[in-house]
Amino acid sequence: MARTRKRNDVYPMIPLFSRFPKLRAAIPHLSLGTFPTPVEPLRGIGRRYGRSGLFIKRDDLSGLIYGGNKVRKLEFLLADAKKTGAKRIITSGAAGSNHALATALYSRQCGFTTTLMLFEQHQLPGIGATLLADFATGADMFHDSAYSEHLAHLRNIADSCERADGAPPYIIPAGGSCPTGITGFVNAAFELGEQISRGLLPEPAAIYVAYGTMGTAAGLLLGLRAVGIRSKLIAVRVVPESVANCVKFASLFNETNSLLISGDPSFPRCSFNENDLTIYDDFLGEGYGMTTPAALSAIEEFASADGIMLDPVYTGKAGAAFLADASSRDLADVPLLFWHTKSRCFPPLSTGRGDYLLLPSDFHRYFATGGAISDGQ
Ligand SMILES: *Cc1c(COP(=O)(O)O)cnc(C)c1O
Repeated sequence: MARTRKRNDVYPMIPLFSRFPKLRAAIPHLSLGTFPTPVEPLRGIGRRYGRSGLFIKRDDLSGLIYGGNKVRKLEFLLADAKKTGAKRIITSGAAGSNHALATALYSRQCGFTTTLMLFEQHQLPGIGATLLADFATGADMFHDSAYSEHLAHLRNIADSCERADGAPPYIIPAGGSCPTGITGFVNAAFELGEQISRGLLPEPAAIYVAYGTMGTAAGLLLGLRAVGIRSKLIAVRVVPESVANCVKFASLFNETNSLLISGDPSFPRCSFNENDLTIYDDFLGEGYGMTTPAALSAIEEFASADGIMLDPVYTGKAGAAFLADASSRDLADVPLLFWHTKSRCFPPLSTGRGDYLLLPSDFHRYFATGGAISDGQ
C-alpha cells in the first residue's frame, strides 16, 4: 500500500497563496501547525439559549505540540527568520505569555536557539506551568519588572547575542504582531472563506476575537475585506488602551496590506475604516491577566454545554462577550462565530514540581502560591 506522496499532497497550498500565487515566491512560509482548523456549531450553547447559528473556529487545535493563535503567526515569522540567516530568535511577553511558549517550542523545532524576554505579570495560576514549559524547551529566560525597562534590556541582550552567535538575532515583537506575523491571520480569513464556500458555516454576521497585541484582529479584518467577507469583527479588549488602540491597529493593518501588495500587486488595497472594527471595552475588568466573574462563567458555560475549554486571560473574556451577544434578542437570527485562540494541548513538562528553583530567581515569585503548577485551563 506504500505510496510516495508528493510534498503538496501532505501540505496543500495555503489559501492565501492559492488565491494570490505571486505571494508564494515573495513571502516565506513554513508549515508548523494543523490547518485548516475545524469550524463547528456550538449546539449545546445554542440549545441553552433556544437558538441556532452559533459557531466556533477551533484554533485551539492548530498545533500538535502547542496550538492557539500564535502558530499561524510563527509559520511566517520563523520562515522569515530562516531567510535572514539568524541563528537565534528573541521574543518578549508577559511572564505567562502563550506567545513566548509557542515561539520557544516552534523555534527549537526549526533549529534556532531562543531567548525569552519576559516581564512582570499579575499573579495567576497557570503562569508557573507556562514558565516551566518555557524552561523545558532550553530557552534562555530573562525577567524584567516593567515593560519599559524590558525594552532597553532587550536591546542589550540582542547586541550580546549578535557578538556571541556571529549573526544578528531575529527579533519577534510581543504577540508576534508585526506585518510578517499578521500575514498568518490574513491567511486565516482566506481559510474561513474556503470553509464558508464549502458550506461548513454561513457567512457570520459577526466574528468575536480577543484584542491583545492586535495582530489576530488586524490580520482577520484585512483578510476578511480582501476575500470579500462582510462579517463585522468584534475585538474584545483584554489589555489596556495603551497597548491596543485604533491608531496602532490602523498602522498594523495598513503595513500588512502594503507588505502583501509589495509581494503581489494584484492584492487589493483595503484602507482601514474605523467603522469596520468594533471594540468591546466592557469585558476587560481590572486589567490584563486579571480575570472577571463574566469570564469565569463563560469558561463554565462553554465547558459544560459544548466541552470547549477557555482560559481566564483571553478567551474567557472574548467568550463572555460572545455569550452576551448570543443571548441577546437582537442577534437571535444571525450567525455568530467565536474564534478560539487558546491551545487545548499543553506541552508535557519534563520537569518536576520543585524544579522551578532551576529558573532564574526573578521567576520564583510566580511559584509562591499553591496551585501554580496547574496549567490554568
Ligand atoms: C496572544 C493571545 C491572544 C491575542 O492575540 P493578539 O494577536 O495578541 O491580539 C488571544 N488569545 C490567546 C489565548 C492568546 O495567547
